[in-house]
Order: sequence, then structure tokens, then C-alpha cells
Amino acid sequence: MFMNTDTIAAISTGMTSSGIGIVRISGTDAFAVADRMYRAKSGKRLSDMPSHTIQYGFIADGSEIIDEVLVMLMRAPRSFTAEDTVEINCHGGVYAMKRILELAVKSGARLAEPGEFTKRAFLNGRIDLSQAEAVIDVIQAKNEYALKSSVSQLKGSVLKVIRALREKIIYEVAFIESALDDPEHISLDEYPERLQEQIRPMKEELEKLIASAENGKRIREGIRTVIVGKPNAGKSSLLNVLLGEERAIVTEIAGTTRDTLEEEIQIHGVSLQIIDTAGIRDTQDTVEKIGVEKALAYAEDADLILYVADAATGLDENDIRIMDKIREKKVIVLLNKMDLEVVTSEEQIREILNKPVIPVSAKEESGIDILENTIKEMFYEGKISFNDEVYITNMRQKAALEAALESLCRVEESIAMQMPEDFFSIDLMSAYEELGNITGESVGEDLINEIFGRFCMGK
Ligand code: GDP
Repeated sequence: MFMNTDTIAAISTGMTSSGIGIVRISGTDAFAVADRMYRAKSGKRLSDMPSHTIQYGFIADGSEIIDEVLVMLMRAPRSFTAEDTVEINCHGGVYAMKRILELAVKSGARLAEPGEFTKRAFLNGRIDLSQAEAVIDVIQAKNEYALKSSVSQLKGSVLKVIRALREKIIYEVAFIESALDDPEHISLDEYPERLQEQIRPMKEELEKLIASAENGKRIREGIRTVIVGKPNAGKSSLLNVLLGEERAIVTEIAGTTRDTLEEEIQIHGVSLQIIDTAGIRDTQDTVEKIGVEKALAYAEDADLILYVADAATGLDENDIRIMDKIREKKVIVLLNKMDLEVVTSEEQIREILNKPVIPVSAKEESGIDILENTIKEMFYEGKISFNDEVYITNMRQKAALEAALESLCRVEESIAMQMPEDFFSIDLMSAYEELGNITGESVGEDLINEIFGRFCMGK
């Protein structure tokens, strides 16, 4: 495609004080740039040292020593970018790192753009686009499953599936083209039937991948969860228990609308994005507490509804109304206050609402483990296997899969309408290209810039 040969530099670790900071230099002149700023006791130059070694020395600006460092040397093509790369491990002071970066620029490098190292890895053929995107996802992963699915994509799981599909498609295109060129030797008799047989499993595979994107989104962003229940059922108490779980990492993110707050909870690697409608957690004033109506409105967009029922009181019209409204959604009923005398039983609720009911007590903090398992069962059939399953977690990739599927459907239509064979190859070719968008084998420069622009600095 387009070859970059200039040498770039950036601070690849965070811009906060830490034990170690890394300034990364990559490009044709990486070693020459590093030589200008590096001093070894022995007086040797980095460019005389073997690849894949670590050298101890100092970074100096003229006669001024800036820091004591370890330098990692990786010669092309055996580096992340597939270019000559030097990584300077310095002390992680923000000032020290900045000085070293400035010195790298003074010595002939230019400042890297966000994501430029990864972009080069892609442009130099070290990784495909799905792997490059997985790099961003690994960096941004905020739970165990998100990390696992990104790493699997980084290792090439998506690439492998897409490549196999593309190969099958291009084989058919080539066959059609050859037959049209050489009708004497290659016959297209009964070919449409054979092609139809080939397309069916491809479509199934695409459909499976597209379906995985729904889960993929939840893996990445968390399951959007709304807690509903009549006043005093124990919603805030339960939310507090969930948030207070020792293993829960709590972050508060301002919600999309002014009066919602999203609390993120990690349960055994699954993220719940709890939409705390108008702060049910904060207010003790019943009048001010969220009305059932409002919570139900939020519930419409939720992936999961936690309906809190009060075991110590009878079901009232609020309960009936809630149950009626949430019938079509994914719901888990938390039958709370099981520590008190039970007036409303599990069976009573099940008679009205056919959903899992879990007896809990916010007061005694019991039943929460079962909730966790139920959530996993509901969303991931109890497990997520990353060994052979490929998860699409990326909406750009999903859109490309959908477009490819559409093209294959058009091929089927052409077959059904007994169109001439070159019609098949046009749509097969567009499916081929749509899939190429995922791996980056057929993408334009704009898209590439757009994708890599989303990276953080130094990656
Ligand atoms: P909300 O209006 O649904 O948010 O309900 P709250 O969480 O504010 O709880 C209402 C009242 O029920 C409070 O006095 C809580 O202490 C009490 N409560 C909540 N959960 C339990 C429970 O599991 N057992 C008992 N005994 N009381 C509870």
C-alpha cells in the first residue's frame, strides 16, 4: 500500500509518574536516532549491538545526562511495527519521559500520531485490521470477558474465519470466470445448484458471527441493567449490596441523561451497567424516589431487568403492573426480604410471570451468588468459550458482515431467477470485498486513518 519510512517516537506508557516509562522509536532511522542520545559505559553504539538484546546505559543531551536507562533493540522485521524499533525504558517521571521524547525528536524522529505504531504494524503486514482493532480493545477492556475476546481476536481468530470464507468465495468467482472464458472445457451445467449448496453454509456462518455481535457488545460495554420494583421493595438496598461486593469494582460514570447515573459492576468477569434511574441509591425520601413508571420507561431499552419484589408484603397493583410490562424482556426476579416472614412466595410470582425467581435478602446479603450464575446462564449460556468460538465485538466488523450476507442473499436470488452466471460473480465479488473490509485487505486510506485515530498515544 503506502510505505512510511520516516522515524516516529512517542511515550508508550501512561503520562503519570510511575516506576518505569517507555519511549518507543520506530522507523528506518530508529537506531541512528537512538545512537545520538545514548551513551554506554563501554562507548559502544546501539547500532553495533545485536537485535533482541537489552542494553544498559544513559540518555544524554550533549554532555547533560538525562536518565539512566535500559534499551530494548528490535530490528526489522522482528518487531511490533515490523520496522527497526528501539524502546527506551527510563524512569517513569513525566518530566524525564518528556525530555527523552523531545531529545528523540531533536535527534531526528518525529512525534507519532495516536495509533501510528499499530497502523504501521498493519501497513507492513504484521497484523490484519481485525487484529489492529483488537489491540485497541485489549487496551480498553474493562472486564475479564472483554479482555479474553479481544486477545482471541488479536491472536487472529476473526482473521482466520474471514479468510476461510473469502477463499471459498473467490474460488467460486474464479470458477465462473474461467468457465465463461473457456466454455469448451469448463461446463457451467448444474453449477447454480452447486453454488447454492456452497452459499448456504457461508450464510449460516455469517449469521452466526452477526448474532455473536450482540453478545460481543454486552461483553465490551456491559449488560445494560435496570432495577425496577415498587417503593420499599429493597431496590436501593440490593444495589448497595451489589456495589458493595468485595469483588465488585465500582466506577461512576455520568449517564447519558442528566438524571441517570450508571454504575458499573463486575460480577465474575461480566460487567453490568446498572442504570440507576434518578439515583435510587442516594435518596431516602420515598416521595422523591423513582416512580415505577419512570423506571419502566428506562427498562424498555435495557438488556436485563432486575425486578425486586417484596416477599414480606403481598403483591400489589404496582407489582402486577410491572410484571405485565416486562413480560417480553429478559428479567430476573429478586424476591427480597426472605429473612422476614414470607407473605409472597416464589410460586405466586411464577404463576404470573414466567421468569427465573431468586429468593434473596439484601439485609443478610444472601442469594447474590445465584443471581450471578443466572445472569451468566441468560446471556452466555453459562459460559463463554474462547477456544473455538469467534466473537465479533466490533460494530464496524458487524456492519461489514451484514453487507456480505446481503450480497450472498442477492446471489441466491439471482440463482432462483436463473440469471446468467456473471450476475453471481458480481455479488460474490462484493461479498468478498465486504469481508475484506474486516481484515483490511480491501479498505481505503480514510477508513484506516479513522480507525487508527481512535488509538491512544504511543500505541
Ligand atoms: P427501595 O424503595 O425499593 O429502594 O427500598 P429500600 O432499599 O430503600 O428498602 C426499603 C426498606 O426495606 C428499608 O428500610 C430497608 O432497610 C428494608 N430492606 C431492604 N431489603 C431488606 C431485606 O432483605 N430484609 C429486611 N428485613 N429489610 C430490608
